[in-house]
Amino acid sequence: MKAKKVLQIALALDFAAWAHSTQRRKGGAREPYINHLTEVARLVAQATGGKDHKLIIAALLHDVLEDQALHVNYAMLVDHFGERVARIVLEVTDDKSLPKAERKRLQVVHAPHLSRRARILKIADKAANLNSILHTPPRDWSAARKREYFAWAAEVVAGCRGVNEWIEAVFDERLSLGKF
Ligand code: ZN
Repeated sequence: MKAKKVLQIALALDFAAWAHSTQRRKGGAREPYINHLTEVARLVAQATGGKDHKLIIAALLHDVLEDQALHVNYAMLVDHFGERVARIVLEVTDDKSLPKAERKRLQVVHAPHLSRRARILKIADKAANLNSILHTPPRDWSAARKREYFAWAAEVVAGCRGVNEWIEAVFDERLSLGKF
């Protein structure tokens, strides 16, 4: 891999760690948020055989625009990581001004219209979330809520399919473990 690509991945990792430094996952283990980002980055790296550094960078940054409190905007991402990376991140960012149910509905509607890279990232994100729910679910989540999340994730991923066999298989395996 070219030195510049490695350097950009390191910069993105540091940027993400700082941006999310005060956040924790809502799962029972309350892992630092960066663990979610590194898992998703690892999944897209494996899915693409390490050949798509921009997708790895977008994975590290994929949640940075969604939370307004992080004070990161699209222009900053373009500035630091270029327009291609910023656009992938924007594609997978929900509009937080909308109610949660509407955001969830729109993820299903938008999935088939995402770019190939955004779809791989979306599947990896959902696969990581399923894993968290399987191993360290939020303490207050009932079996019904877990079932509901799994069903919704499967719907979003259905709209993303046909982009990468490996990541789709990882998702499907985790989905099959969801017997709540
Ligand atoms: Zn995520």
